[in-house]
Amino acid sequence: MQLSYWELKNWFTDVNYTVVGSGIVGLHAALRLREKFPDSKIVVLEKGNVTPMALGTKNAGFACFGSISEIIDDLKSHSEEEVFNLVQKRLKGLQLLRKRLGDERIDFKPHGGYELFLKEDESCYDECVKKLPLINEILRPLFKADAFVKEIDRFGFNGIREHLVFNPFEAQIDTGNMMQALLKEAVSENLLILNQQTVTSFLDKGNEVEIVLDDFSFSTKKVLFATNGFANELTNVAVKPARAQVLVTEPIKNLDIKGTFHLDRGYYYFRKYRRSNSIRRREKLGF
Ligand SMILES: Cc1cc2nc3c(=O)[nH]c(=O)nc-3n(C[C@H](O)[C@H](O)[C@H](O)COP(=O)(O)OP(=O)(O)OC[C@H]3O[C@@H](n4cnc5c(N)ncnc54)[C@H](O)[C@@H]3O)c2cc1C
Repeated sequence: MQLSYWELKNWFTDVNYTVVGSGIVGLHAALRLREKFPDSKIVVLEKGNVTPMALGTKNAGFACFGSISEIIDDLKSHSEEEVFNLVQKRLKGLQLLRKRLGDERIDFKPHGGYELFLKEDESCYDECVKKLPLINEILRPLFKADAFVKEIDRFGFNGIREHLVFNPFEAQIDTGNMMQALLKEAVSENLLILNQQTVTSFLDKGNEVEIVLDDFSFSTKKVLFATNGFANELTNVAVKPARAQVLVTEPIKNLDIKGTFHLDRGYYYFRKYRRSNSIRRREKLGF
């Protein structure tokens, strides 16, 4: 593809910062760069077409920082301090997201979260109950209260133990609204977001970096890779992507649940999503 003079001038000349990937991390990083360097030219390159291929548009909208069994699992391979720092980072990230976009725009609902335990999963349940006071102590400086509380299951799920663990600090958001708001914010802050641009390689020339796309290349002063599971395709970071998916059911009648629900150390989770009246009206009319 031959770029016009104007395309070259406006998008690919005198670029200060290039961010590769327009997911949550890429867009937040670019917005932070804008705060710090108001007059710089910042380009965001994304290989997805209409929307980013980012997981941000595909995830389940849990505003969470780890269920109790997930945190206990993390403690098996990390120190208490590392786990504390990880939870703190997740909390700070959520606070930043809320501050930047506002609770209304992302449909933030602080309904709390629950960890359920399968009847046959005795060992996981026993371990969580036993370690609950320890985890609460580790996290107390962050929440100033118990983050996890053992409660009777009032939802009546099949095959689930009588007790569950409630986390009052967890919440849920509307993922689509969040990514849309983040993209709008990015555009209003004069970030140049270009879709369908796959970075294939880069060359560090010392005082600048050459960014190579499918059929042309340009120079940038600095580059930031926010490519998540694709990181190993471009950089030396050893990342092994894992498969995950969200299933959306047909509407379930009389589904009386509120909050976010976890099972099996964070590998399974579910929540209720209610489409807005305007979307349901449009669907009825066949749009
Ligand atoms: C099914 C599922 C459910 C999830 N549910 C939740 C949840 O409920 N709560 C939660 O907190 N987290 C959840 N997550 C995790 C969360 O979505 C991710 O951790 C988060 O979105 C990662 O953001 P990111 O910006 O790092 O990466 P991504 O969102 O993956 O963005 C990376 C971007 O880089 C682009 N890219 C990659 N390579 C190139 C290249 N060479 N050139 C140009 N662009 C490139 C990609 O197209 C992509 O858009 C879920 C994940 C999955 C898969």
